[in-house]
Amino acid sequence: EPLVVMKNVGKSYGNVNALQGVNLEVYPGEVTCVLGDNGAGKSTLIKIMAGLHEHTSGSFEVAGVKRQLASPRAAQALGIATVYQDLALAPLMSVWRNFFMGNEIRKGPFLDSRAMRRIADEELQKMGIQIGDLDRPVGGLSGGQKQCIAIARAIYFGAKVIILDEPTAALGVKQSGVVLKYIAKARDAGLGVVFITHNPHHAYLVGNHFIILKLGRLTLDAHRDELTLDQ
Ligand code: ADP
Ligand code: ADP
Repeated sequence: EPLVVMKNVGKSYGNVNALQGVNLEVYPGEVTCVLGDNGAGKSTLIKIMAGLHEHTSGSFEVAGVKRQLASPRAAQALGIATVYQDLALAPLMSVWRNFFMGNEIRKGPFLDSRAMRRIADEELQKMGIQIGDLDRPVGGLSGGQKQCIAIARAIYFGAKVIILDEPTAALGVKQSGVVLKYIAKARDAGLGVVFITHNPHHAYLVGNHFIILKLGRLTLDAHRDELTLDQ
C-alpha cells in the first residue's frame, strides 16, 4: 500500500503553474528520488506533501484518506516529516536535548534528562549513527552527523514518510556517504523516503524510484529495474 498518492496534482501561484499533472506514489521501504533544476517545482511538491501548501488541482491522499485542507499539523500526525536544509537543530544545545526539542510541541510523555539522554543514545545507536558524547553541542558535529540526527529525530517522533530536502548538497564525499548510508538504513527499516537531490549519483546509490521534474511536469518516472542501458 502506498503511503502517499498524488493523482494529477497541480499547483499554481497566481498564473505561475509550479506543478502540473503530477502522479506520484510513495511506498514504504522505498527511496523516491526527486531530481530537477531550480524552479522545476521540487519545493512546491515538498510543501504540498508537508501540508504547507494547498494543491490547486488533482487529488492528494495520505494513508488512503483524501486531503481536503492543507495542514502541517495534520500532515505530521499522519507521519509525514520534512528535514529541511537548515535542519532545525540548535547549535549550542547538546545532542540529546536537540533530539528531544520537539517533545513539548508534540506533547510527548514527560521524560527526565537521564531518560532523554538514554533514549537518544539508543535511537542513534540503533540506526548505526556514531556521535560519541551526546553532551556535546550539536554545532561542533559534522554536517553528515547533523543530518542523521535530524532524520533519527523525525523517525523517533513517528515519521512514516521522511522528506529530505537536498540532504547531501552542502556535504563533501565522505559526509555524503554517512548520510546516504543512513538513508539506506531508514529505507530498509520500512520508511518511505522522498529524497530531493541535484546529484544523480547520490540518487542512484540509494534510490528505488526516480522522478525528474521539469517546469512542473514529470519528464521521467522510472523504477530502478527500468533504468537500463540495454534497451
Ligand atoms: P524548485 O524547488 O524546483 O526550485 P519551486 O517549487 O520553488 O521549484 O518553484 C517552481 C515554480 O514556482 C518557479 O517558477 C517559482 O518561481 C514558482 N514559485 C514558487 N513559489 C512561489 C510563490 N510563493 N509565488 C509565486 N511563484 C512561486
Ligand atoms: P502550526 O501550529 O502552524 O500547525 P507547528 O507548531 O505544528 O505549526 O509546527 C510547524 C512545523 O514545524 C510542523 O510541520 C512540524 O513538523 C515542525 N516542527 C515543530 N517542532 C519541531 C521539532 N522540534 N523538530 C522538528 N520539526 C518540528
